[in-house]
Amino acid sequence: MRKRFADLLQEPIAGKVVLVRVDFNVPISNGVVTDSTRILSSVGTIQALLEKQARVVLIAHLNRPKGTIVESDRLTPVAKALEPLIKCPVKKVDDCIGASVQSSINALNNSELLMLENIRFHPGEESNDAEFSKTLASYADFFVQDAFGAVHRSHASTVGVAKHLPSYSGALLDKELTFLSELSKSPKRPFCAIIGGSKISTKFSVLRRLIDVVDVMVVGGAMVYTLLLAQGKSVGKSLAETDLLDQAREFLAHAEAKKKHLIIPSDHVVVTDIQAPQTAQVVTTLAPEHIGVDIGPASVQIIQDVLTQSKTIFWNGPLGIFEVDAYAKGTMAIANAIANCPQATTVVGGGDSISAINVAGVADKMDHVSTGGGASLEFLEGKQLPGIEVLG
Ligand code: ADP
Ligand code: MG
Repeated sequence: MRKRFADLLQEPIAGKVVLVRVDFNVPISNGVVTDSTRILSSVGTIQALLEKQARVVLIAHLNRPKGTIVESDRLTPVAKALEPLIKCPVKKVDDCIGASVQSSINALNNSELLMLENIRFHPGEESNDAEFSKTLASYADFFVQDAFGAVHRSHASTVGVAKHLPSYSGALLDKELTFLSELSKSPKRPFCAIIGGSKISTKFSVLRRLIDVVDVMVVGGAMVYTLLLAQGKSVGKSLAETDLLDQAREFLAHAEAKKKHLIIPSDHVVVTDIQAPQTAQVVTTLAPEHIGVDIGPASVQIIQDVLTQSKTIFWNGPLGIFEVDAYAKGTMAIANAIANCPQATTVVGGGDSISAINVAGVADKMDHVSTGGGASLEFLEGKQLPGIEVLG
């Protein structure tokens, strides 16, 4: 059994060094964090430890420096962005192991916070190197895993360190697992999943797994065109993965055999040139020159009706090319429709889906916004996540 964050708070942690792995992999532009959502998600965990007078040391990664120092990937802007959120000074050391780290930790008082440098500057992180893990662990008394977005990877800061220290899940990780376990094991019904995005190849396993769990599945985004092609329909020049037609046919047959309500949009916003929104029109059958960019209004209506009947809603993947305002109507309408479902437990996951609910201004209306895109999908696919397995 995994030891939860609440269990750690029962331990005498005053004066102890608690190493906390967080997912602070945020967008940075000109040295400034432009979206602090991920940082904010772990503030509760950190604050609770500081209140218990622990000496807190944060481990995080940023981007993919691949084991070398990349100046633009330093965590200094992240430490700055954390300060106003946590309302206390955040010390920062420019390395993740070594003498400067050891002395900074020695100098840390109770209820003080230190952030180590980007853990991926060290090659031992991604190779889950045993010595590197031991060194990290040697700085601390306890380990807390709160980086849900990283637990599907087998790295030193997700697996290695946890083997050498009494380890616990953080408050964010506990919340993620509570919501996602409920979705996959005991959802309130009817359960409707909306899966969109660009490539069906990246979502096939989650589609296959979820179709067995849900009552209704809505497919949106470019994945629609691979399914329409598999049904022998025309998709014009829309993004479709022609090498996956057999798998798409199998999926459609499986959904039918299981008597699942699978909603494939019946009308589409199409253009003749992605760069030319003025050519947009709504069609039910795509002509050879058409590129599908969004679901149409009739489909939006059908989905809205299903949502108002649902008790559990999971959404991953935009329904159209929502980055372009003219093609964002379907995605925005569905974001608002989910936000207006007080009867349902609503869970949204995926980087682009989170931007979409932020653009729609409805993020705070969702019961749970999952911070880990890849990890939440892998969890729902039923995969074992190494960073969670190691916690027991
Ligand atoms: P998430 O990050 O939420 O998991 P994905 O990364 O799977 O979502 O998909 C998001 C991308 O899908 C967006 O960049 C969006 O433009 C694209 N997309 C959605 N619909 C279409 C479409 N009809 N044609 C091409 N791309 C699309
Ligand atoms: Mg994405």
